[in-house]
Amino acid sequence: MLGAGIMGLSAAWALHRRGWKVRVLDQATPPNPVGASVDHHRLIRHAYGAQHGYMRMVDDAYAAWARIWADLGEVLYEETGVLALDEGTGAWLPASRAAMRDHGLAMEDLTAATVAARFPIFSGDGVADAFFTPRGGVLLAEPIVAGLAGWLARQGVEFLRGTARDVAERRLTLTDGTVLTADAVVVAAGPWAPRLLPGLKGRVTASRQIIVRLAAPPDLATAWSRAPMLLDLAEEGGFYMVPPVRGTPIKVGDHSFSLAGDAEDDRDATPAEAETILALARRRIPGLDRFTPLGARACYYDVEPAEEFLAETLAPGTLLLSGFSGHGFKFGPLLGEAVANALGDPALLPYLAGWAAGRENPAPGLLRTA
Ligand SMILES: Cc1cc2nc3c(=O)[nH]c(=O)nc-3n(C[C@H](O)[C@H](O)[C@H](O)COP(=O)(O)OP(=O)(O)OC[C@H]3O[C@@H](n4cnc5c(N)ncnc54)[C@H](O)[C@@H]3O)c2cc1C
Repeated sequence: MLGAGIMGLSAAWALHRRGWKVRVLDQATPPNPVGASVDHHRLIRHAYGAQHGYMRMVDDAYAAWARIWADLGEVLYEETGVLALDEGTGAWLPASRAAMRDHGLAMEDLTAATVAARFPIFSGDGVADAFFTPRGGVLLAEPIVAGLAGWLARQGVEFLRGTARDVAERRLTLTDGTVLTADAVVVAAGPWAPRLLPGLKGRVTASRQIIVRLAAPPDLATAWSRAPMLLDLAEEGGFYMVPPVRGTPIKVGDHSFSLAGDAEDDRDATPAEAETILALARRRIPGLDRFTPLGARACYYDVEPAEEFLAETLAPGTLLLSGFSGHGFKFGPLLGEAVANALGDPALLPYLAGWAAGRENPAPGLLRTA
């Protein structure tokens, strides 16, 4: 296993549960603070626009998380519900609504007035369309990565520290010349993938994304403790807001991809970068300037142009997991199980890529549990 982010650790978890002897290589000790997986939180929700495959995968993802909680002995998830707003006539919100209704998910349509009445911490100004779904919430990312790494180590999974410079058939070569061989190699290098595999140029791009952390003023703390996740899709640039759960900060971030930067760059955000995000949020969150700033930082996505995940064979016995485009965390354990099943049954391997790209239903057996 190359990479101890959520993808590598999830695949290691699923392979271990299926009886494989697993080794995990990473250039850092997990949880790697500059990895894409390590932050207070990540969101899970069914709202997926016209990407119906990913919407359907969310049910399976929840079931896979339940298997992780059973192994870790704790539930590192808080349900908050999802509030989605659009100020314009964008296609994403109506497409999400139609797909979710079709799927039988509970949801409630809202207007500008009912958004403001129901969620007074938000302004309904300019809202043209909105819905709320009770299902959806916050995965506590860093405790999950740390918990999973600890669980795997206790099960006897070996963690190696080193940097891979070359990937070949069932083989990794490290920068110090060490060669590691295995029956199967899984490469889950997050935003470092395009550095390690230059052939990914144009297919996977590292993308610097800014997030800003805030604390609500004391008089609003109770109202904010019940806040839903917010997906705000204004035409002039939307943002998302992760509510504060279990002592985590409020987080706001940008929906659009920068497609700039490199995973080796520093993670400091400039005041101007932070202000760009705050300007998006200020319109929707009254009194934002009274909130306590808790810092801003850059994180890196590994963006695939259609935002479809890559789960493909690089060489016989060597799989690549990449292109998670800012929405992969929620699917980590589910993808790990599918990868482990495909590595254990070559007949399933041809079906892995289309399913992971959100284009095909899972082949029978691909999501088998252990
Ligand atoms: C700001 C932000 C917000 C996000 N929000 C969400 C969200 O709300 N919901 C959601 O589902 N997803 C979200 N995502 C996406 C999700 O977090 C990522 O898709 C996921 O964490 C990627 O995991 P990974 O294991 O592939 O990568 P990483 O966590 O980056 O792990 C890759 C690991 O590989 C190691 N590595 C890389 N190259 C080498 C090498 N050559 N040798 C040795 N080790 C190497 C690295 O050290 C690293 O530890 C978000 C991402 C970011 C950055």
